[in-house]
Amino acid sequence: MTTPTIDGPAATRDLTGPALMRHAERAAELGRSVARTGAVTAKIPELAKVDAGAFGFSVATVEGTELGVGDSDVQFSLQSITKLFALVALLQIEPTAWEHVGWAPTELGYGSVTELERAAGRPRNPFVNAGALIVTDRLLRHTGSAVGRVSTLLRELSGDSATHSDAAVAASEAAADHRNRALAHVLAEHGRLLNPVEDVLGEYYAQCAITGSVLGLARGARFLADRRLHRLVLDSDNIRRINAVLLTSGMYGAAGDIAYRIGLPAKSGVGGGILAALPGVGTVCAWSPPLDLEGNSVGGVAALEHFARTSGWSVF
Ligand code: GLU
Repeated sequence: MTTPTIDGPAATRDLTGPALMRHAERAAELGRSVARTGAVTAKIPELAKVDAGAFGFSVATVEGTELGVGDSDVQFSLQSITKLFALVALLQIEPTAWEHVGWAPTELGYGSVTELERAAGRPRNPFVNAGALIVTDRLLRHTGSAVGRVSTLLRELSGDSATHSDAAVAASEAAADHRNRALAHVLAEHGRLLNPVEDVLGEYYAQCAITGSVLGLARGARFLADRRLHRLVLDSDNIRRINAVLLTSGMYGAAGDIAYRIGLPAKSGVGGGILAALPGVGTVCAWSPPLDLEGNSVGGVAALEHFARTSGWSVF
């Protein structure tokens, strides 16, 4: 747990474009100034090549305001943020898929083999890696290509034609990964996978290697906030459940800390991206590669905390 960087009363909510831009610029400045205290992920060697000083910030409101600061249109590796879009893609086909992945917070961390083994191979939620493997597996069975379906959904929602799966990043994770392999084998032993382990892992690495920009992500996730868009993407019950599980489980072991400091449903990835939504209002996204010990972007968390506070964006 880190100490909140901001204290004092939160602002009343301000939604005009110029005010949001001012808040976003200050948030990005603050985020950039602390980013270097983190470290770029060592889990996926190919991601060590990214510019650690890159910083992007974006906001999209349900009213249609869209703004970006810094590297807001640069493609980066979405990694675990794809778990959100994979879940949406699966729920579009199988609205009751929750029964296979659960919705409770993890106690032992997003990659825990112990927790999975203790639950006879039933994952805690769709954002721990075991749950995400189940989502990818089922999507693969339904569509023949989980990575294809998730990339297409992201392109449709964001309008970002540059979104693609980066083969070098996927191969780099495949070569270095042991933990997802272990999780997949535990799932298979308990009869939870529909496809062979190697097929599921290949799809999962390729799905995590999908790219996006913060501007595209904020626009692409607007359905989480916009009730008019909801029904074009998913039914309202499932959107509400997704937002709830993002709040409790979207930020690895720091979900409670993030709820306390920022107060928004959010999902992060080891590529340094964080996507957050305020239902009824809009989405906000940050990208800065250096991570803290929980695996969340240091600059991204600081920027989001500042933005949430000064713009009055919080579900509480
Ligand atoms: N591909 C990464 C993994 O499965 C994603 C991790 C993350 O972004 O949290 O370990």
